[in-house]
Amino acid sequence: MLTVSGLRKSFGGNQVLKSIDLAVDQGQVLTLIGPSGSGKTTVLRCLNGLEVPDAGTVAFRGGPTVDFGGQVKRRQLMALRDRSAMVFQHYNLFPHMTVLQNIIEGPVQVQKRPKAEVVHEAEELLARMGLAGKRNDYPAQLSGGQQQRVGIVRALALRPSLLLFDEPTSALDPELVGEVLTAIKELAEEGWTMVMVTHELAFAREVASEVVFMDGGVVVERGHPDVVLRNPRQERTRQFVHRLL
Ligand code: ADP
Repeated sequence: MLTVSGLRKSFGGNQVLKSIDLAVDQGQVLTLIGPSGSGKTTVLRCLNGLEVPDAGTVAFRGGPTVDFGGQVKRRQLMALRDRSAMVFQHYNLFPHMTVLQNIIEGPVQVQKRPKAEVVHEAEELLARMGLAGKRNDYPAQLSGGQQQRVGIVRALALRPSLLLFDEPTSALDPELVGEVLTAIKELAEEGWTMVMVTHELAFAREVASEVVFMDGGVVVERGHPDVVLRNPRQERTRQFVHRLL
């Protein structure tokens, strides 16, 4: 579904991504792991056009294909943005909007879909996420786990091809992590295609189709979770997973 090749990104003189290649098949769950600062979040942000890479291509099957080596047009970035939806570490809900307003904002204002249809879909998604009855609450009235499940509903309501998760549980109190991981696991079982940055290695082992270990802006090792997380070939991967498992 998605092929990324030769992705490079620098901030000032700091080369954060040094030619990253990734591929995700339909229905696959790819997890990105690695030490803080290794470039994982930047990869996600480049995939949906929140950052513009310096070079490389991002290609979705059936389009769009964007070559960042050339001149990138705004229309191409918008097309990229339309294919994926991001779930953020700190939920990024608008505090002055209700749950429902947060969810329908993108589909109605950006995608220009009919409001009644979007509201109906949002209510179904809220019920599926165990949030029926919360549509008129404000984010501050919800627990962190509930806020993050609203964040997931907001992403789903955009009807993306690809879901991007940026450490979706790392801001949560430990007792709230499970409910969010369960929701994500259910989406994986339903066949959603996902790329997820996570420190939850047990979760990655259970749910991921492929684990990619990054360090210093490069992919050090990739493969089946049983190999990368239990029996890695590279010493750097071994040190990292042993510290976390
Ligand atoms: P990770 O997700 O693996 O922790 P990040 O992708 O967040 O890594 O960051 C990789 C590096 O890029 C870090 O050194 C970070 O400080 C730097 N970085 C990320 N975003 C920006 C930005 N907008 N401006 C400057 N530096 C950035």
